[in-house]
Amino acid sequence: MSIDTNPSGSTRTNIRSLSREQLTDAITGLGVPSWRANQVADWVWKKGVTRFDEMTNVPATLRSQLEERFTLGTTTEVARQVSVDGSRKYLLAFEDGVSVECVGMPSPQGRLSVCASTQAGCGMGCAFCATGASGLTRSLTADEIFDQVMHVGDDFGQRVTSVVLMGQGEPFANYDATMAALRHLNSPTAGLGIGARHLTVSTCGVIPGITKFANEPEQFTLAVSLHSAVQATRNALMPGVRRWSLVHLYDVLGTYVAKTGRRPTYEYALMAGVNDTDAELRALCDFCRGTLCHVNLIMLNDVEGSRFSPSTSQRANEFLRALGQVGVEATLRNSRGADIDAACGQLSQRARRGRLS
Ligand code: SAH
Ligand code: SF4
Repeated sequence: MSIDTNPSGSTRTNIRSLSREQLTDAITGLGVPSWRANQVADWVWKKGVTRFDEMTNVPATLRSQLEERFTLGTTTEVARQVSVDGSRKYLLAFEDGVSVECVGMPSPQGRLSVCASTQAGCGMGCAFCATGASGLTRSLTADEIFDQVMHVGDDFGQRVTSVVLMGQGEPFANYDATMAALRHLNSPTAGLGIGARHLTVSTCGVIPGITKFANEPEQFTLAVSLHSAVQATRNALMPGVRRWSLVHLYDVLGTYVAKTGRRPTYEYALMAGVNDTDAELRALCDFCRGTLCHVNLIMLNDVEGSRFSPSTSQRANEFLRALGQVGVEATLRNSRGADIDAACGQLSQRARRGRLS
């Protein structure tokens, strides 16, 4: 639960961080009948208002009582980019001025996916990642993770149908806040009611996090950034997870599958001459063959000043075919919002240089 101080010096709680029961208690504690809590809950979680006076069916006295005690959300939009494919990328600032980015991706079928951040920056230092280059500023609170999703849903005026935690940061380096945010997103009574299977955590392979995640009761989805099944290559690309070997990762994923029966996704961004050689392809096939998994091949997003370049689409299709031949389910991800710097970290880089409004 996040708390801030209002101009009169008293502390206020973010109303969105309450459970449904806490909200009802807060309303009845003001001497107001409990059915009013249903109306307020609707505005807080379903309609995503940002000001109490937007709660038009709530009496003015109750609105001002709420205003004195609570805040509504933690974010302010600093910048945005809109893609020709309809995706919108936002730079959102929190109360201490720290900012992160998130993306909303609508589909023609009326679905809305949100990609959200779990940390401002990231301490894992992956060599191909714009976020990794600038290091960790701080972890986000559960409310700050939740509020990004709320902001996007509100901006589109649409129900959010899925969330991937693939923005800035390593979710398992901020485990508790990440799980609290997921539970909040999942809750039909005090949240957005998004099905657990439609809530995905992406980790660079923090083993203790995967082990804990395997024991969570909800059916949240797991994605693992693999990027190479050759130890030396992976060490060079992803120094933050060097301490855990690929063998260890393989074993832990086996346990995850045995425990949950769920299929993890492996993210693999193809980099020319680095992880797209024949030897790399063989190692990837060996890592996946006979296991329950889905390989998501990604065309590397350009990062300014990066020494890596994307593989050709011909090479990507060869990977796709070879994985299929050994019975491994694989797709080549079409890069959404490629024209809006879809790789994590790039919007904030630009905003810092003053190239965005
Ligand atoms: N830290 C987590 C989640 C955030 S990164 C993780 O690493 O999984 C989200 C995804 O973007 C990861 O799969 C990451 O490897 C990938 N990524 C980072 N930089 C990229 C780039 N330049 N091109 C393509 N994918 C990239
Ligand atoms: Fe962090 Fe993920 Fe980027 Fe690696 S890829 S630096 S873990 S955000």
